[in-house]
Amino acid sequence: MSDTDQHNGNNAKQESLQLLGLWAVTMVVAIIFITTLSARTPESTKEPAGVKHAQSAQKIAPPLNETQTMAPLPPGHPQISQLQAEVAAPAPTMPELPAGHPPLDAAPAPAPVAAMHAPVEPTTPMHAPAAMHAPAEHAKADNHGQHWGYEGEGGPEHWGTMKKEYLACGEGTQQSPINIDTKDVIATKVGDITFNYQPSALEIVNNGHTIQVNFAPGSSIKFGGKIFELLQFHFHSPSEHQIDYRYFDMEAHLVHKSADGELAVIGVMLGKGASNPIMDAVWDHIPHETNKPKTVVGALVNAENLLPANRSAYYHYMGSLTTPPCSEIVNWIVMQNSTSVTDAQITTFVNTVGENNRPVQPMHRRHALTNTH
Ligand SMILES: [Zn+2]
Repeated sequence: MSDTDQHNGNNAKQESLQLLGLWAVTMVVAIIFITTLSARTPESTKEPAGVKHAQSAQKIAPPLNETQTMAPLPPGHPQISQLQAEVAAPAPTMPELPAGHPPLDAAPAPAPVAAMHAPVEPTTPMHAPAAMHAPAEHAKADNHGQHWGYEGEGGPEHWGTMKKEYLACGEGTQQSPINIDTKDVIATKVGDITFNYQPSALEIVNNGHTIQVNFAPGSSIKFGGKIFELLQFHFHSPSEHQIDYRYFDMEAHLVHKSADGELAVIGVMLGKGASNPIMDAVWDHIPHETNKPKTVVGALVNAENLLPANRSAYYHYMGSLTTPPCSEIVNWIVMQNSTSVTDAQITTFVNTVGENNRPVQPMHRRHALTNTH
C-alpha cells in the first residue's frame, strides 16, 4: 500500500469518524443535559450551582421553564413532575433549605446550653444541679421577699437559692456547722487562746432567730497571733456542732471580729444541768419584741462566765457563719468541755425563738485540729 492510497483511505475513514463523533458528542451533551435536569432535586443544592440558585427563588424559575420547552419529555415522565413541583413551589422549598437544614438548626441550640453550664460546673462540681436552677430561684425569692428561717420554704436547704447574697449557703465548700469526728481530728500545736474579757453592760436583743447579748468594745481574744474583738454572744438549740455525731441541748456562740474583717467564733456546748449565773441573768430579761435591744439597767455581764473551766482544750477548723449569708470567714473554736443550762431555760428559749440549728455540713477536704501542748 502506497502513501497516497493510505492517505485517501484515511480521509474517508476520518470523515465517517467525524460524523460519528459529532453525533456521539451531541448525544452525550443531550444526555448530560437531561441528567443534570433530573439531578436538580432539592438535595442537589449541595452543589455550588444549586447553592447559588437557592439564595433567590426568582432566579430559578425562568431557567426551568426554558429547559422544559427545550427538552420535551413524554407526559407523565418522572422528570416532568419533578420540574413542575420545583416551578410550582420554588419559594417555600428552596429558601427553607439553608435555614431549615438540620445542622444549622441544631447548632444554635446546644451553644447557649453549653455557655450556661460552663461557668458553673467546673467551679462547683458538687452542686451542679442546684447551680443550674439558681438564677430562676433567685428571681423568685427576690420578688417574693422570702425570709430565711429553720423550716419550710425559708429552711436551711433553701438558703443557698433564696438570694444571690446567700449563694455560699448552697455552694460553699467550707460551711458550718460540722460534725467533729474525734477519730479524724489532727493533733497539732495550734496555740492557746489569750482571753481579755471585760464586764460589759447587759444589752439583749431578740432578733427573731436567736437571743443575742451585745458587747461594748473592750473585750477581745488573741488567736493565731491576731486580735479579735468580742461583738456578741448568742444561742442555738439544739447545738449546731456535733461531737462524734452527738448533739448537745444548746450551744453558745461568742462572735469576735478582727480589724481586717475575719471572724473567730467560740462555740460552747451546753448540756442540761445546773443553773448558771450568766444564763440566769440573760434569761430573766429575754425581750419578747424582736429587734428591739433591751439594756438591763445596772447589770454587767462578763463573757468569761460562759466558758468552761478548761479553755485550752478545743477543736479548731475553718468554716462559715451558720446563718445566711453563710460567709466562709470564720475561725471556729469549739470548746471540748461543756457548761450547763437548766431544763426550764431550754424550754423558754425554744418557746421564744424556736429550734434554730442549721444541719451539719459536709467536711469536704477539711479536718478539725486539736491543740497539743
Ligand atoms: Zn450562732
